[in-house]
Amino acid sequence: MTLRGKVALVTGGSRGIGRAIAEALTAAGSRVAICHSDDPASVTFPVAYSADVSSEVEVISLFDRVTEELGTPEIVVNNAGILHEAPLTETTLADFDRVIAVNLRGSFLVARESARRMESGRILNIASDLGLLGRENMAAYSASKGGIIALTRSMARELAPRILVNAIAPGPIDTDMTSPGAMSPEALAKDLDTPLARFGRPEEVAALATFLAGPQAGFITGQCYGVNGGSVMT
Ligand code: NAP
Repeated sequence: MTLRGKVALVTGGSRGIGRAIAEALTAAGSRVAICHSDDPASVTFPVAYSADVSSEVEVISLFDRVTEELGTPEIVVNNAGILHEAPLTETTLADFDRVIAVNLRGSFLVARESARRMESGRILNIASDLGLLGRENMAAYSASKGGIIALTRSMARELAPRILVNAIAPGPIDTDMTSPGAMSPEALAKDLDTPLARFGRPEEVAALATFLAGPQAGFITGQCYGVNGGSVMT
């Protein structure tokens, strides 16, 4: 119970990696709220809100609601994200803008609101190994994730020592985002072309997220950690 009593907010916490992080933070003693884009009644998590992270108004309202119900979040996980797979020449401006709006602008809006409100705490941004590697047919997504890594480093410098800011760049993780309907067979095969040659489990990302949110990570900021089966080695 290393996070006993801490208030945490996990965006995109209804499913997949975000859900596993929300459950792990809860198990560590945090009082956790999640947000996601659908009707909040569609998930069973105790404190769930509907908020589109790409909307400034909705993000501010989300923080108001979480603060009223649980208190000011001290641990904020920017996890909400969407994938878009298409050749560059077939990626429309609307496709590109939507991916950047949810993944990068959303991370900015949520982090900015966190920095305005929390006295001290942790911000954790979920990037992707593709933000470091790049990937054919995923230019918008990869660019959004590369942007999140740069955003993490900039915020870590600016908000130190009050707020520690780190990123996790997962490799292929077994969630709806990597289900056969959501990605092409070619992209899935590419995802598995790593030394460990398997999908990671959301809980394997959540374990690192819980550590980075906790007291033993007090000297860590501005870092980007891979939980990736070896897809990136630095
Ligand atoms: P997922 O299963 O598709 O879940 C995505 C989550 O984000 C859902 O809770 C969804 O809410 C929420 N969401 C989507 N758009 C949103 C918006 N505009 N506002 C608020 N919430 C929104 O995805 P996942 O695989 O767990 O991915 C989680 C994060 O990890 C993403 O940032 C993703 O890019 C990153 N990541 C994933 C992998 C992987 O292999 N799975 C690898 C590297 C990085 P609803 O339930 O309401 O739709």
